[in-house]
Amino acid sequence: MKAAVMRGEQNIVVEEVPTPEPGPDQVLIKIKYSGLCGSDVHRFQYGMAEPGSIMGHEFCGEIAAVGANVKEWKEGDRVVGGGGANPDGIPRLSSGARYSARTVGFKTPGWGGFAEYAVMDHWRPLPLPDSVSWETAVLTEPCAIAVHAVRRSAFKIGDQVVVMGAGPIGLLTQQVLQAGGASAVYVSEPAPARASAARDLGATEVFDPINTDVVSNIVELSDGLGVPLAFDCAAAKPTLQQGLEMVRRGGQVTVISMAWEDVPLLTVEWIGREVEMKASYGSTPEDWQIVLNLMEQGKVVAGPMIDDLSFIGFEEMQATLTRLMTPQDDIQSVLVP
Ligand SMILES: [Zn+2]
Repeated sequence: MKAAVMRGEQNIVVEEVPTPEPGPDQVLIKIKYSGLCGSDVHRFQYGMAEPGSIMGHEFCGEIAAVGANVKEWKEGDRVVGGGGANPDGIPRLSSGARYSARTVGFKTPGWGGFAEYAVMDHWRPLPLPDSVSWETAVLTEPCAIAVHAVRRSAFKIGDQVVVMGAGPIGLLTQQVLQAGGASAVYVSEPAPARASAARDLGATEVFDPINTDVVSNIVELSDGLGVPLAFDCAAAKPTLQQGLEMVRRGGQVTVISMAWEDVPLLTVEWIGREVEMKASYGSTPEDWQIVLNLMEQGKVVAGPMIDDLSFIGFEEMQATLTRLMTPQDDIQSVLVP
């Protein structure tokens, strides 16, 4: 089969590799779509993927073969490549008590989706509801990140919230907050295509944080108090400080995106209001199931996140990952193997 194989820092090569064979407790998935994740870009950019490895963990496809012991799947079943609960109860954050994504790297999954086929333990994939399209299904894993963050946050139905950054995670967080009953979802995003996608998906208002004073605008729109909650889905230099400034007394900023460089903080601006910062990382099987339910109900859609320009072939992987190191108007890139 064809696969995009990491061969060193910022070097990904399309190669012919043996098609994996499922073991007795495994399934083989023929991949339909495979999303490019910001974490794949970081692995590529900072040389955090083992040479010879196949990245990609946001994929959907059909069961192509099953191992001898596998009873619950048959050829042709539509699945998303992840989200199943580990029957042995291996903990979710298995990377250690002092885990750091910068020094340890992201766990490199053994089931890379940047290939025509991937093999997985039988419990790992989840069945895709009939009504959920492939275009929507490929967003399941990043949407589980958004659901995880919203569930970890202090969000309550009726809250006014701000989402900073309208990349894939920001746009999915926006949709999850709307589905959860936010009274207003304000989005802060400088790139025109991303801002317009946020508008199309129903953002109450979208602010350009480069050319407008987003903090003052948000404070004004929330009775001069600030919003109770903001979500940092950008990790740009100014966003964390802006988030901490725009929340009200006792408000909370949930940080989803990771900054790989220092971000400046002026603590005197917000410590006096006893605001909170909360980190969110990864997702649980429960989050994935919530996502599939939201997708089945039409409350999370691909819509403007995926259009014809999103789809790329193997030969565009190197150029696309390189471009995504400094994303502009890109939203979600999807490999069609
Ligand atoms: Zn991802």
